[in-house]
Formats: sequence, C-alpha cells, structure tokens
Amino acid sequence: MNETQSKIPNPKSKMPFDVLIIGGGFAGLAAGVALAEAGKRVCVLEQKPHLGGRARSFRDPTTGSIVDNGQHLFMGCYHSTIKFLKTIGTLDSLHFQPRLAVPFLDRDGRLTRLDCPDLPSPWHLLLGVLRSGSFSFKQKLEVLRLGKDLRTAGQQSRPTAGESVTAWLSRRGQSEGLQRNFWDLLCIAAMNEDPRIASALLFERVLRLALFSSPADSRLGIARVGLSECYTAAATAYIEARGGRVQTGRSVKQLLIAEGVCRGVDLGSGEIIESVPVISAVPWQQLAVILPGELLRTEPFFAGVMALRPAPIISINLWFDAPITNLELVGLRGTTVQWLFDKSRILGASDHYVSLVLSGAHEHVSKSKEELLAIALREVGEMLPAVHKAKLLHSLIIKERFATFSPSPEAESMRPPASTPIRGLFLAGDWTATGLPATIEGAVQSGYAAARDILQCG
Ligand SMILES: Cc1cc2nc3c(=O)[nH]c(=O)nc-3n(C[C@H](O)[C@H](O)[C@H](O)COP(=O)(O)OP(=O)(O)OC[C@H]3O[C@@H](n4cnc5c(N)ncnc54)[C@H](O)[C@@H]3O)c2cc1C
Repeated sequence: MNETQSKIPNPKSKMPFDVLIIGGGFAGLAAGVALAEAGKRVCVLEQKPHLGGRARSFRDPTTGSIVDNGQHLFMGCYHSTIKFLKTIGTLDSLHFQPRLAVPFLDRDGRLTRLDCPDLPSPWHLLLGVLRSGSFSFKQKLEVLRLGKDLRTAGQQSRPTAGESVTAWLSRRGQSEGLQRNFWDLLCIAAMNEDPRIASALLFERVLRLALFSSPADSRLGIARVGLSECYTAAATAYIEARGGRVQTGRSVKQLLIAEGVCRGVDLGSGEIIESVPVISAVPWQQLAVILPGELLRTEPFFAGVMALRPAPIISINLWFDAPITNLELVGLRGTTVQWLFDKSRILGASDHYVSLVLSGAHEHVSKSKEELLAIALREVGEMLPAVHKAKLLHSLIIKERFATFSPSPEAESMRPPASTPIRGLFLAGDWTATGLPATIEGAVQSGYAAARDILQCG
C-alpha cells in the first residue's frame, strides 16, 4: 500500500471515549447510536453549530415557520431508518401513508392519482397503475411489461453496468411519453439525477426495494416536525445517556494517519485528539479535505473520493396570505419544479406555506433567486389558479449545490465500503457503497455498517 506519513504531534488530549465519529448527520449519529447501544462510549464531532448535516431544519426569521433545508420524503422500505428512529424514540414524528398514493398535476391543471390498493405486491402497484388516469392504455401495458421484467429478472431485461436509466427504459419498451411523465419523475425524486445520466442498475434496485417488494415498503413517509427535530436531539440524548458526547462547533482539520494506522484527529489551533478507531461520516468532498493529500493521490481505495461528482437540489419556499391547494403533496408533470408540498398542512401550522422541489438541478442552480422565483410562480400559477388570487408574502430559496453525489454508472464503482486499508479508520455517509442512492436510508445503513465493522474488530 502506498501511504502517507502525516506527522503526528504529541497528543494534547487522550480521548476518554472508545470511538471518535466525525460528522453529525444521519450517518454519524446512526453509527453513534448503534455503538452506544452496544456499550461503546462515543464522541461525535460536528463542525457546524448545529447537527443534521444535509437533513436539517431551522426557524425562518421572517415568518417564524420551521423550514427544512429541503423537503425530505421517507419510504416504508427505509428499514434501517425506521429502526434508528425507533431506537431513539422518535419514530412517531413520521407519518406513513396507509398505502402508496401520489397525486399528479399536469401543466394544464389536470389532476390524476396513483392510488395503490391494499393487495400483495406487485398487484398493489399494477392495479394502482391500471386504475390511474395518469396513464394511457398503451402506457399501462408498458408499465405492466416492466413490472413483469422486474419480477422475472431475466438476464436480458436487467440493466447492464454502464447503462443509463433512459437507455434501459427505452430498451425495455417504455415510450418517451411514459418516461417523461412517470419514470423520469421517479428517477429524479429517488436518485436526484437526470435519467440520461443516472445508473439504471441503481434505479432498478430502487424500484425493486421501493415499489415491487411489499405494499408497506412502497408507502411514503413524511416528517410532521422539522427534520432536525426528528432525530438530532434524541440521538444526542441516547448517546450521552450511555457515556458518550456529541459536540457541535468542533471541526476536524486533518485525520492523523501514519504507517497505515489512523491514530486520531487534528482540530487545528493546536488541538489533537488521540483516538482509535475513528469513523469519518462526512461527505466525500469533505473527506478529501481532511485526508492527508498524499494518501488521496496514492491509495487507490480513495480514488472515488476524488472522482464523485455532486448533484444539486433547489427548494423554493413560498408563503401566501391564503391557501393555494388542498393537496399535501403533489408531483408536477411537464414543469421545471417537480414536487409541491403544502408545509402548513404537513406541519399542522396556520401559515399558508408551500415548498417546491427542483431535484437534479444542474441546469438551474446558477440561476438567480429572482429567476427561480419567477419560474416557480409561473408554473404553479398555471396548475393552481388559486395562486393568482393569493398574495405572496415571503419567499426563501435554498440551493444545496452538494445535495447528493451524482449516481452515474461510473460512480457506483467508486463508492468505498466502511472498512478502509487504514487500520482504525472507517467510513460512513450516504456516498459510501450502500447499494442505494444518496438517501437518509443509505446514510443510516452506512453508519450501521461502520459500527458493525468496528464491533467485529472487537
Ligand atoms: C435538499 C435535499 C433534499 C433531500 N431529499 C431527500 C429525500 O427526500 N429523501 C432522502 O432519503 N434523502 C434526501 N436527501 C439526501 C439526505 O439528506 C442525505 O442522504 C443525508 O442527509 C446524508 O447524511 P450523511 O450523514 O451521510 O451526510 P451529512 O448530512 O452531510 O452529514 C455530514 C456532517 O459532517 C459534518 N462535517 C463535514 N466536515 C466536517 C469536519 N471536518 N469536521 C466535523 N464535521 C464535519 C457536516 O457539517 C455534516 O453535518 C436530500 C438532500 C438534500 C440536500
């Protein structure tokens, strides 16, 4: 192994903890909770003044509303996330639909629904599609054909490693119209990437897990509180009740690695924490900053850290003086913005606050906030005439440029597992090799994987 010899200064503090975790998002906190549950005292260091990373909420200073950094959806198939929230006692902050039900609005304002009946899989989905006004008769047959492909999993029908979602769907007889109005919306929502770029293998896996496993797994879940409230304080309390510490405002400057062993972290300003093992639960681009540079250049294991690319998400939050819809969430077809969430309804608040989501937003992220606001108001106004009667009181646009990694076919081979060739260094984060796109479930699974690997080492 080629490796870096980064200098380890004399330790200033020896950690009275068993495991050091860098990063207080879903991955770091899930790892901390799993280790605490197994009797380990963990220390979580988070650079920001708050926990939650890319899944967090805050109070909007103008309206006082609780705003997420971007609307997050959960699914019934998020088994590890459900386990994590159950462990820390906050599962009831999520509301799961009884069955998968998604309304769609077309650009001309036509409302259709995908309502899946209470039947065993895959009949729930297939009957839902057959009954839906969202598809023409021909498109229904196309969906049924793909459903059959997914169930029988013949070699020919499976995506190939280098295939994009669009290439695979076209090869499996899915027409352009059906792709545009249905599969593309699902792909962008689940993978945060344009289907012409996204990996078909990963998308097929998502379809199997989310739509073709069980009706309970297909249900959408939504937080009834701000995202941070779902897990950050409860995970902290769980870890600290078991002898651990969760510290915010503590930024790791560099991992201390010498002779193939990670011995702790340098916090800059002369502060060193000596600890083995260490879990890095930071995003890949931040791992690139804290890994010794030479290791990044010479150790093939870390090649992916340099090669992954980001995919942005834009959230457009709007406050009106009157309601503009009676739908809690709705998929928007044929528009730039893809989903609308009635946050007041979701959070049980009395303001008239909606949040619009624009995922896979490469083309739009450099647009000005004024341009994005104008697009959103025009498009939503075309579909929901109530927008013209209501007065816009306030808007807040959040651009998450590094929302997720871009799940291209190439990216899949670059995602590293939890255990690294550096003794004492483990990786977690939604971008590691979870077999899932960058999601909360992937983040939690990655945290669990790192915890499991540490516990197995003894
Ligand atoms: C707008 C948006 C919408 C999304 N929608 C969905 C959705 O609907 N459903 C879904 O499942 N997923 C969704 N996701 C993805 C989901 O938010 C992420 O997959 C998940 O939050 C990643 O968690 P993580 O712990 O891996 O990383 P992060 O949340 O990024 O946590 C990493 C933490 O490490 C900290 N850190 C970094 N460097 C250092 C350092 N040097 N020292 C100390 N701390 C450091 C960071 O500050 C951060 O808090 C969405 C993401 C965004 C941005």
